[in-house]
Amino acid sequence: MAGWFTGDGPGEEFRLLGTRCSGCRTVHFPREDGHCRNPGCPGGELEEVPLSRRGTVWSCTDGRYRPPPPYVSDPGAPWVPYTLVAVELAAERMVVLGQAAPGVGVADLPVGSAVEVVPGVLDEDAGANTVHTTWNWRPVAAEAGPEEPGTVPAAEGAVS
Ligand SMILES: [Zn+2]
Repeated sequence: MAGWFTGDGPGEEFRLLGTRCSGCRTVHFPREDGHCRNPGCPGGELEEVPLSRRGTVWSCTDGRYRPPPPYVSDPGAPWVPYTLVAVELAAERMVVLGQAAPGVGVADLPVGSAVEVVPGVLDEDAGANTVHTTWNWRPVAAEAGPEEPGTVPAAEGAVS
């Protein structure tokens, strides 16, 4: 997963990373560092660019079931439900797949709703004491931010 995202340290802004072709402006994600994948491209340099933090839900899949036998190797292991979501990035208009943040389900991700990218845990290796980071999508509306409506101060005393 090296080079797929940046800013998973404290205080940094988490962003997915892609590469953009200087010849045709095509953005690649996952990153492409060899040759531009656009067949009609005249050729150009590929440079790393941070992708949009926000996008809209394009489609969503619920993986809330246990795979049937013989795929279950350990029936006693807890099955963690997951939701896969395809998000169309705001600026790039490209679709990026990812897992929804923990606790976020299909009902929270209607098609066309706004989501943002956040760091998530891919898996934890307790023995090696390492956590592998990935990206998750979560609904923007679930978080009260500065864009919250209703913060315009009432015009008190303006009535004569
Ligand atoms: Zn190109």
